[in-house]
Amino acid sequence: MIKVFFKIIASFLLLLGLLVTYIFIDFDDNSPPKKEQPTIVNDITQLNPIEVTRVIQPTSIKEIVEAIKSSSGAISIGGGRFSQGGQIAYPDSIHLDMRSFNKVLAFDATKKQVTVQSGITWRDLQEVIDPENLSIKIMQTYANFTVGGSLSVNVHGRYIGEGPIIRSVESIKLIKANGEIVNASPAENSTLFYGAIGGYGGIAVISEVTLNLVANVKVKRYTEKMNVQNYKAYFSDNIRHDQNVIFHNADIYPPNFTEIRSVSWLNTDDTLTVEQRLISQNKEYTWQPKVAEFVADSNFGKWMRQHVLEPTLYSFDAVQWRNYEASYDVNELEPSNRATKTYALREYFVPVESFDSFAVKMADIFKKHQANIINVSIRHALPDSGSLLAWAKTEVFAFVVYYRQETSEAAQQEVKLWSREIIDAVIEENGAYYLPYQLHATTKQFIKAYPRSDEFFELKRKVDPDYRFRNKLWQQHYEANNKQHDGLADE
Ligand SMILES: Cc1cc2nc3c(=O)[nH]c(=O)nc-3n(C[C@H](O)[C@H](O)[C@H](O)COP(=O)(O)OP(=O)(O)OC[C@H]3O[C@@H](n4cnc5c(N)ncnc54)[C@H](O)[C@@H]3O)c2cc1C
Repeated sequence: MIKVFFKIIASFLLLLGLLVTYIFIDFDDNSPPKKEQPTIVNDITQLNPIEVTRVIQPTSIKEIVEAIKSSSGAISIGGGRFSQGGQIAYPDSIHLDMRSFNKVLAFDATKKQVTVQSGITWRDLQEVIDPENLSIKIMQTYANFTVGGSLSVNVHGRYIGEGPIIRSVESIKLIKANGEIVNASPAENSTLFYGAIGGYGGIAVISEVTLNLVANVKVKRYTEKMNVQNYKAYFSDNIRHDQNVIFHNADIYPPNFTEIRSVSWLNTDDTLTVEQRLISQNKEYTWQPKVAEFVADSNFGKWMRQHVLEPTLYSFDAVQWRNYEASYDVNELEPSNRATKTYALREYFVPVESFDSFAVKMADIFKKHQANIINVSIRHALPDSGSLLAWAKTEVFAFVVYYRQETSEAAQQEVKLWSREIIDAVIEENGAYYLPYQLHATTKQFIKAYPRSDEFFELKRKVDPDYRFRNKLWQQHYEANNKQHDGLADE
């Protein structure tokens, strides 16, 4: 009896306890909101850490529109983060990290067209189109970049008879600074189309992209060494008009810059030497970064590359799929760390007739500053179809410079010196320098190299009047221009 009595009392006390807990616990969370953690956004060189207030990883257009409409400050946009001068970030901005916005939305193999969300990488897109034996028409040498980042830079590859990527874009969908969604193509909202492509995230968010594709074919490698002065004639006689050439580039060997090796991949019916259709995304690179380091370390390394390593490599036949050759992974270049030394790129575009004179000026500047150049790869591009910040104002040769530099302040200043000298040389030839790399150009040089930048700025003022879309590139060149512009807020 006593046992039962105690059981009733214990149950009663337990119920009372639960009731008190229920009454006194506040289920509405009135605690101060969790402070958003400042986040550092950096690029592959690790030279440009920028603190943003918030990073959003959208997976839908709705989330991008919401991020724009529910805020009022600066917005920066990032894709693969391979640009090298803060083009992806701005202090205290909301950062849109587009890498999870990466679906294939429509694929018509018969029409050879694909529509994607802009954060997809080339490599992921190749997985979808390769089984239908189709290829991306124009992309960079490596496949890690996002489609949106590539369009915003208006990139190019090693394709002959092509040029800036804008030539392969059917249409784009944009999200403007007021949250409005619009389509753009050469026929519809064309000013936005020509401003956003090559516009470095300054005009709108590129959300969807429809690209034209081409057939995936087997390609065979041919290489030839020659003096640099003979290259222009060689290119025009053997490469320029040969429709069988798919990829072509030519490497000028440092430190002397007198010899060049042409490497072309031609359409072929020969038996494959590499059966694999795409380079695996999980491949580990052990010796490749060490070779780059060995070449960078000394002139002996550079001599070995020119006279021993590459002659051996190129003595083997290579026949493979176009998609295999287009699926390189930047990890093959990645050093073990970038703390005291980092690898970076520069690129200069000159009208084809200026190849010889620019090659000499560039080599002289590198030698004068003892810049540690690992490679200068020459590419060719037909003129741009109309983008406001076109780097291919005419038919051009691109000089793609891969180099190593130290990360100290003094070393960065030295790089700035030679960079500005080369930009002056390229402007003398009526050419342009490439904008995704370190921001060493003066605004005067930028305006000379990109003569339609005033139209670009005018468009930006019109479609982004509150200067929402920002990054370090536009901080450098647009803010000064904006200050001079009558009636606009002094940012
Ligand atoms: C190893 C290496 C090799 C390279 N080879 C080549 C080459 O062969 N040819 C060539 O042309 N370039 C080459 N580049 C340069 C490269 O193409 C550019 O840096 C390109 O921007 C990289 O794409 P990403 O996705 O990393 O863009 P990010 O660096 O992330 O962004 C570049 C710009 O695009 C903007 N942006 C990104 N996504 C969007 C979006 N959805 N909407 C609006 N704006 C957006 C960003 O704000 C930024 O201004 C190379 C770079 C490296 C590091």
